[in-house]
Amino acid sequence: MKSIARLGFYLTDLFFPPRCVGCARAGFVFCHPCAQLVAPVVAPICPHCGRPQSKPVELCWSCQLGERDSLSLVRIATLHSHPLRSAIHALKYERQPELAAPLARYLVAVAQQPPWLEILPYINAVIPVPLHAQRLAERGYNQSALLAGEFSERVGLKMAESWLRRARQTRSQVGLNAAERQQNVADAFLADSVAAGKRLLLIDDVFTTGSTLAACAQALRQAGAAAVYGLVLSTPAPTINDDTPGDV
Ligand SMILES: [Zn+2]
Ligand SMILES: [Zn+2]
Repeated sequence: MKSIARLGFYLTDLFFPPRCVGCARAGFVFCHPCAQLVAPVVAPICPHCGRPQSKPVELCWSCQLGERDSLSLVRIATLHSHPLRSAIHALKYERQPELAAPLARYLVAVAQQPPWLEILPYINAVIPVPLHAQRLAERGYNQSALLAGEFSERVGLKMAESWLRRARQTRSQVGLNAAERQQNVADAFLADSVAAGKRLLLIDDVFTTGSTLAACAQALRQAGAAAVYGLVLSTPAPTINDDTPGDV
């Protein structure tokens, strides 16, 4: 059965060769030159949530306000700019789950740097930010679960997707400000009691205000998790307003 499926993939590739989502080059889903163009998140960043800042800070404004207190520490791998933005869009909305493998490489690269070298050995399980069942049925897969699966396999950690679920459907966060996003996802997640006492690592594809990640961590902490960390694939580049109260 497996070999028939493989033959199917082979024939599909033969007649419809994959095209790079960044530059349309045939034969690759995300070609090497495009992968080289992906911009990593570099200092200065907020030491707590990992968001890039336009100048060094002790804590970004949102973290000062305690909006991400449920999270122990977050790091974000890359900036949400072309061609990575196109790749994430294709992974999420254009039914290209095969992009999860090349994109998970950026998460693995971050996990091999401080402070993760000290944190990862104590992580009990990797948990993807869940999709609501209805959206999962429409999309056919959860892109964060694909990323978390690839990531956990490569770093040798267990994935525990069932420990966290979306209790209710939330409207898309696109177009909402920080306060509206926080309200939109408050109490949207439910964690299994098996999370009690565990040190967990959440994986997500995009970090905008961090409200989804914080709400997931909140649910896991309410279930008794000892610590909840976050590792996210990408975030928008910092703007001048990011450091000011007006942004929150
Ligand atoms: Zn390309
Ligand atoms: Zn922060």
